[in-house]
Amino acid sequence: MGSKKEEVRRKHIRLHMEGALTARDKVGVQDFVLLDAYTSESAFLDNLRKRFSENLIYTYIGSLLVSVNPYQELGIYTLSQMELYQGVNFFELPPHVYAIADNAYRMMCSELNNHFILISGESGAGKTEASKKILQYFAVTCPMTESLQVARDRLLFSNPVLEAFGNAKTLRNDNSSRFGKYMDIQFDFKGIPVGGHIISYLIEKSRVVYQNQGERNFHIFYQLLEGGEEELLAYLGLERDPQLYKYLSQGRCAKESSVNDKNDWKTVSNAFSVIDFTKDDLENLFGIVASVLHLGNICFEENQQGCASVPDTHEIKWIAKLLGVHPWVLLEALTHRKIEAKTEEVICPLTLELSAYARDAMAKAVYGRTFTWLVNKINSSLVNKDFTGKTVIGLLDIYGFEVFDKNGFEQFCINYCNEKLQQLLIERTLKAEQAEYEMEGIEWEPIQYFNNKIICDLVEERHKGIISILDEECIRPGPATDLSFLERLEERVGKHAHFEFLEKNNDLLYRHLKEVLCRSKNRILKECFLVAELENRRRAPTVGTQFKNSLSSLLEILISKEPSYIRCIKPNERKEPSKFDDFLIRHQVKYLGLMEHLRVRRAGFAYRRKYEHFLQRYKSLCPDTWPHWHGPPEEGVERLIKYIGYKPEEYKLGRTKIFIRFPRTLFATEDAFEFS
Ligand code: ADP
Ligand code: MG
Repeated sequence: MGSKKEEVRRKHIRLHMEGALTARDKVGVQDFVLLDAYTSESAFLDNLRKRFSENLIYTYIGSLLVSVNPYQELGIYTLSQMELYQGVNFFELPPHVYAIADNAYRMMCSELNNHFILISGESGAGKTEASKKILQYFAVTCPMTESLQVARDRLLFSNPVLEAFGNAKTLRNDNSSRFGKYMDIQFDFKGIPVGGHIISYLIEKSRVVYQNQGERNFHIFYQLLEGGEEELLAYLGLERDPQLYKYLSQGRCAKESSVNDKNDWKTVSNAFSVIDFTKDDLENLFGIVASVLHLGNICFEENQQGCASVPDTHEIKWIAKLLGVHPWVLLEALTHRKIEAKTEEVICPLTLELSAYARDAMAKAVYGRTFTWLVNKINSSLVNKDFTGKTVIGLLDIYGFEVFDKNGFEQFCINYCNEKLQQLLIERTLKAEQAEYEMEGIEWEPIQYFNNKIICDLVEERHKGIISILDEECIRPGPATDLSFLERLEERVGKHAHFEFLEKNNDLLYRHLKEVLCRSKNRILKECFLVAELENRRRAPTVGTQFKNSLSSLLEILISKEPSYIRCIKPNERKEPSKFDDFLIRHQVKYLGLMEHLRVRRAGFAYRRKYEHFLQRYKSLCPDTWPHWHGPPEEGVERLIKYIGYKPEEYKLGRTKIFIRFPRTLFATEDAFEFS
C-alpha cells in the first residue's frame, strides 16, 4: 500500500475518531448505537440534525447506513474518496455508501458468497443516487481486464436507458423511478465484474395516460421530441412541441427547466449503442413510443347511435404504419368490443367513455410490455456465459412506504412490499445478533420489538388475505365493484376504505385490441404479445397476485444472500439543501423502522470490538500493556479494563471480542486516551 494513501487514511482515522468520540457534541455520533438514550426518538433526531448541519449525511446503526439527501453536491464521491475506502476496516473511516459497497465486496471475495444491498426510503430520498454511486464504485475500484471493459460499460449504461423509460418528474422528485429495480452484478473469482441481470417491479403504467398537475410522463417521450433527429421525427410522424400531445401535457409542465431533455437524449442514444441495440431495434422501439403519443391524440365523437366514432383518422394511420397493423382493424378494435356468446362472436359498438378506456388501456399495455421487453433486451446484453461459478452483489432500489392523502392500489402494493422487506430485515438482524452472542459464548437477552408478521398475513394469507379476497371479487361472476369488495373486506378483515382496486387489479385489455397487437408486424410488439396468449382461455393472474408472486421470488433471492442495508431519508419537501424538516424526518425515522432496528442492534451492548483492536487502541492506558503486551490479547484487555476500573455490569468478555454495555463507558475510555 502506498505510504501517501496510508498517511491520508491515518489522518482520517484520527479525524473520525475525534469526530465520533471527542467532538461528538458538535457533530454527533457516527453510529447511533453509541447514543446513550438509544430508545429516544428525539435523541436520534438530534444526532441526525447535528450531523446534517455539518454536511455529514451518513450515519450508521451498527452496519446499517442511514443517509440523508443533501440536495447539493458534496464532493464526497471523488476518485480519491473511492481509493480511500478500498479494503478499509469498516469503522475506521466516516460512514459512507462506499464503505457499505466495499464491505460487501470484500466479504464476497474472501468468503465467495453472495450479497445484496437493500436501499429503501421514500421518493426523493436518494435511493437511486445511492445505487448509482455503488455501481460506479465497483466500476472504478474493481480489478479489470481489457476484454471485460465492455461488460462493465454495459452495466453502467443500462442505467440511463432504464431511467429514460422508467423515470419521470413528479412533485416529489424530478427524476423519480416509477418502477422497482433489482440488479445483480456478477463477479468472477478474481473479483472482476463480468455481467449482470436486472429484474423490474410494477412499472407505473397509469402515468402513460395520465399525470397529476406538476408531473410529467416518462422522460423518454420528451427526450425524443426535444432531442430526436429531424429524420427520425419525420419517420415517426411527430412534432417537436410536447404541448401538442395529450398524454404529455396534462400535468402542465411538459417543458421543465430542471430537466435537460435534449442533453439526456444524447446520453440515452449513446447508452443504446453501448448496450448493443441495432438500428432496427431502435426503429421498432421508437415506433412504439411514437404510437403511444399518437394514440393519446385520438379523439372520439358520438355518432347518431350513441356510439363512439373517430372523425379524424390521421393518428390511426400513423399508428397503423408504425405498429404494422391494419388501420381499419385498429379503428374497429378501438370502437367495438367482441363478446363471445355460446357459439359465435358478437361485435358490439362501444360508448365514448369505453372507447377512451380501450384506447388508454392499449397505450398502457403497449408501454408496460415494451418496458419489460427493454429490461429483457438489456439483460441479454449483460449475460456473460463464459463465466461459471460467479458470485453476485444484488442492488435493490425499491420505493419505500407511501402515505398520501388518498392511497391507491399502487400504494397498497408498495407498502405491502415494504412490510415484507422490513420483516426480512428484523428477522435477519435478530438472527445475526443471536448468532454472534452464541458464537461469542454470551448469554442472549430477549428483546422487545414489533413483529409485523400480522400485517403481512393480513395482506397475503391464502383464502383469508386481502389479495385473495380481491381476486375473488375480480373473478366472481355478476356485478363486482369496489363497493362489493369493500363489503367483503369489512366482513372478513374489518372496516377500512378502499377504492378503485378492482379495475387496477384486473388490468383489462379488451380481447379485440389484444388480437390487433398480437398480429402487429412491429418486431418488439410481436415478442410482447404472443399469439399463444389468444389461444389461452384461462385468465391471466391479476396484478395483485402477480405482484405477490414476484415479491415472494424476490425474497427467495434475498434470503440466500448476505444483507447490507441503506436507509435513505428525505430532509424536506422542497428539494432544498440544508433544510432539516423535523416533522418530516421524524415520520420517516418511524416508518423506516430505524428505532426498531437500533433497539434490536443495541440489544444488550452498545459496542463490541475484537480484543486485538481494543488493546491496540487503548494499551497506553495501562502500564502492564504499554508499550507492548506479549500474552494473549484477551488477557491484556482484562488487565487493561481492570486497571481503568470497568465495573462488572458494564461489560462482558466473549470468545474473541469485548462487549461494552453503555456508550458512556467507551466515551470515558476514549477521553482518557485523548488526554493520556
Ligand atoms: P429516490 O430514488 O429515492 O426517489 P433520487 O436518488 O432520485 O431519489 O434522488 C433525488 C434527487 O436528490 C437527485 O436527483 C439528486 O438531485 C438529489 N440527491 C440524491 N442523493 C444525493 C447525494 N448523495 N448527493 C447529492 N444529491 C443527491
Ligand atoms: Mg429512484
